[in-house]
Amino acid sequence: MPLAYLNGNYLDQADAHLPLTDRGLLFGDSIYEVIPVYHGQPFQARAHLARLQQGLQAIHITNPLSQDDWLQVISTLSADTPAPAQSIYIQVTRGAYPERAHKLPAQPQSNFFAFSKILHTPDPHIQTHGLHAITQPDVRWHHCDLKTTNLLPNVLALATAHEQGADDAILVRDGVAREGTSSNLIAILDGVLTTSPDNPLLLPGVTRNLILRLAAEAGIPCARRDIHIDVLPQADEIWLTSSTREIAPVTRLDQQPVGDGTPGPVWQQINTLYQAAKTQPDNR
Ligand code: PMP
Repeated sequence: MPLAYLNGNYLDQADAHLPLTDRGLLFGDSIYEVIPVYHGQPFQARAHLARLQQGLQAIHITNPLSQDDWLQVISTLSADTPAPAQSIYIQVTRGAYPERAHKLPAQPQSNFFAFSKILHTPDPHIQTHGLHAITQPDVRWHHCDLKTTNLLPNVLALATAHEQGADDAILVRDGVAREGTSSNLIAILDGVLTTSPDNPLLLPGVTRNLILRLAAEAGIPCARRDIHIDVLPQADEIWLTSSTREIAPVTRLDQQPVGDGTPGPVWQQINTLYQAAKTQPDNR
């Protein structure tokens, strides 16, 4: 039975339970993170844990563990899972209280837990053929920069994509495309690697940040500007990026080919750099 971590203890996942009145369950009153681990080494863990800290602070939940304590949890859980690539899921909720009430509790006592999942990245099929995406309205709230567990709009947009035979949806708000359902959006527009500036309408992706650094180091022109839906069909390349999916090229958008319909040359270049970065100790 795989191991789980819950409120300071390690136990079988099947024995890890939360009370029905946990606010994460009732209100989505919680923050989560997903941290990849390659060959036992967490990748970009400090950046993920810093984002966890910022998210908790923004919704006034005290982080129950220090960065080093979380790193220890990640290490213990990943050592228990015999897989070369895995992701560690972490969630901190505002806790459980005797009765359901919207009002914030006076003395919060958070519940916090983590478990591992085997990762199958990079996906050879996606690397060869890319993804098929459709555009969908972004109906999420105005704090998408916080990684809360309120994911129903993301879940339903993905379901719509699947119903239409696509792999994912690119979310569009007021004519601007910023994210996939669980990823950031990057487009190569007239040779410029383009992605939205950080703002409350998108998550500041750890993967996207690393890609921007790798691209700048490789001399690829980069711009932080909004991607208007009108220009997206003319993009040379479109990518969806996340810690678990890495850099997924989108080769069809709304039934039309992106570029020549295959993963493009800038993707090939950045993906090679990204795969190399996964093995470098300074990225842990
Ligand atoms: N946006 C959303 C909505 C996401 O769920 C994710 C995945 N966590 C990302 C962007 C990418 O973030 P990261 O690269 O840090 O995994």
